[in-house]
Amino acid sequence: MKNEKTVKIILGLVFAAVLLAGGLPLWKHRHYRMPVVAGPGVTRVFRLSEIVPSLKDSVADTKVYVLDGREPGGKALVMAGTHANEPAGLLTAILMIENAVVEKGTLFIIPSFNASAARNTKPGDGYPLYFDIPTAWGAKRFRMGNRDASPLEQWPDPDVYIHYPDKQLLSYLDVRNTNRTWPGRPDGPLMERVTFAAMELMRNEKIQIAIDMHGAETMFPVTNCIVAPEKAARIATIASMTVKAMEGFDNHVEPSPANFRGLSHREIGDYSETWPFLLEAPIPFLDQPTGPKTVKLMLDGKDPFLLSLAKKKKLFVPYDEEGWSMDKRAGQHTSVTLEIFKQYSKKYPDMAIKLSGVPRYAEIVKNGIGSYFLDPAKAEPKTIYYE
Ligand SMILES: [Zn+2]
Repeated sequence: MKNEKTVKIILGLVFAAVLLAGGLPLWKHRHYRMPVVAGPGVTRVFRLSEIVPSLKDSVADTKVYVLDGREPGGKALVMAGTHANEPAGLLTAILMIENAVVEKGTLFIIPSFNASAARNTKPGDGYPLYFDIPTAWGAKRFRMGNRDASPLEQWPDPDVYIHYPDKQLLSYLDVRNTNRTWPGRPDGPLMERVTFAAMELMRNEKIQIAIDMHGAETMFPVTNCIVAPEKAARIATIASMTVKAMEGFDNHVEPSPANFRGLSHREIGDYSETWPFLLEAPIPFLDQPTGPKTVKLMLDGKDPFLLSLAKKKKLFVPYDEEGWSMDKRAGQHTSVTLEIFKQYSKKYPDMAIKLSGVPRYAEIVKNGIGSYFLDPAKAEPKTIYYE
């Protein structure tokens, strides 16, 4: 009898130890706060709950950084972190918040669009919880997120997600995927409220251009491209041709399919006057046939299995020993974004959006994206925000 009690106590302690060892890193990951310094161009920061009050006090209530220009002009929204496991967009958005100055027009930036997905992970795929980017003042630590919002924020999932308002049947998981819940509704599931708040922002502010930054597998056909609906296709095409001619990288245009619902590049265009552009930069880390999902693979995009597949012409992007680094991916995002603004401004000079302080592809590849991040230790406390 006494022996049995001792065994139970020991087993209980072992269970508690396993629970702590497994749970504590996840708890810390969820509560990690990454400092972002509001740069010289930031004039205001607010949260989406200003638009949809029911988001208040939820993890999904993400921040919007506003950069008002020196003179009025057009308006653009830049979104990153729709899929928090495609982090080149997040790094690009933070680079813009910390460095961009708007000469004409207004820029809205949402770096962690799905803030719940930013706090989620994928243990089954062995995702690292963090990755570090070297800077002149030390390593800047980023949290690696997941594609979908955490069930801690939105649960239970339905058997099938019935898209609103088109009633198209989507995978149950897509109810937590903020690139399937557009245009959303104010009283729908949490992720629909996030996309609805962004729709309202675009409609209320009369935003002309929305950029949604993503990453896609090298084995997926819709990669290394700009996805745009009919009304935005012309600007997308000129931007694509210009970066190819002037900066030497490919970024073809993919038409937004009219029958595939819930995606930003479809619904933003259909439910507002805004022209949406979804940018895909290749991210070898997300391909299935790679080695271990390490931080190194996330940052340099070099993988021997993809290299052998490239030689058999199985990839949809050029791929060699150089891999596909974070700097290249972020550089493509800044260059394509700036080029879309430039081409739009040429066509509509009164509605121009002009920025300075944002480096383009070649500069980021040469200097490394870390060289553009500001040191929070040297910033004024009131300019520091946390993502
Ligand atoms: Zn994505």
